[in-house]
Amino acid sequence: MILQDKVAIVTGSSRGIGAAIAEKLASAGASVIVNYSSSASHAEQVVSNITSAGGKAIAVKASVNSEDDIKMLFEVAEKEFSTTADILVNNAGITRDNLLIRMKNEEFDDVIDTNVRSVFLSTRLAAIQMMKKRYGKIINISSIVGFSGNPGQFNYVASKAALTGMTKSAALELASRGIRVNAIAPGFIETDMTAGLKDEFKDEYKKKIPLKSFGTANDIAEAALYLASPVSDYITGQTLHINGGLYL
Ligand code: NAP
Repeated sequence: MILQDKVAIVTGSSRGIGAAIAEKLASAGASVIVNYSSSASHAEQVVSNITSAGGKAIAVKASVNSEDDIKMLFEVAEKEFSTTADILVNNAGITRDNLLIRMKNEEFDDVIDTNVRSVFLSTRLAAIQMMKKRYGKIINISSIVGFSGNPGQFNYVASKAALTGMTKSAALELASRGIRVNAIAPGFIETDMTAGLKDEFKDEYKKKIPLKSFGTANDIAEAALYLASPVSDYITGQTLHINGGLYL
């Protein structure tokens, strides 16, 4: 129970990678805010999985596109668990894929708003609270394509590349206050986000991945637990790549 008495907020944890991270942190003793924007039943299922295993969690509907909603997330965490957040996982993310020459302004803006501006808003709030505790862990979920680029994802790649710089800047600013800021860059992971990819595309990619398979949400959750726990206290400003060797 390495996260006993810690409070964690995991954005976008009703499904996929966020859900796996919420369950993993809870299994290590953290009290977890399971955040969602529309998938209420999925979020309740995640909470039920956690509580039936003896953990503590509540589901909170909040859009990371809204500053008021993000403030409310932090307020609920403090009220429900009697202390401010010790761990923030900025996981909520969307894609709005299109070729560059066809990409609409809204497709670009929506992705930047959800994947980047939200991380600015939540990290600023977390930093203010964690500075008072002189300890905290912030984990940003980036992507392999933020490093490699990807056709059809100009907006999404921009958002994930931004997280690399934001992670390093926050790490440098907050290190003296005991706050560690790191990122995880997943490769192809089996979730709803990749479920819609054509089978031919998936098969082609699996051939290119040295470990010959897509990863699981649990592969990412194990890394998140490591970065959230004191065993990684000497690590800050880093991005951990988890991609089966696809990008080295
Ligand atoms: P997913 O299955 O599509 O789940 C996305 C999660 O984000 C859902 O819980 C969703 O909740 C939530 N969400 C979306 N918009 C939100 C908003 N405005 N406010 C609050 N929550 C919101 O995605 P995933 O594959 O697990 O991806 C999770 C993260 O990993 C994302 O940042 C993604 O970019 C990154 N990633 C994924 C892969 C991959 O291969 N899957 C690879 C690299 C990086 P609702 O359903 O309630 O909206």
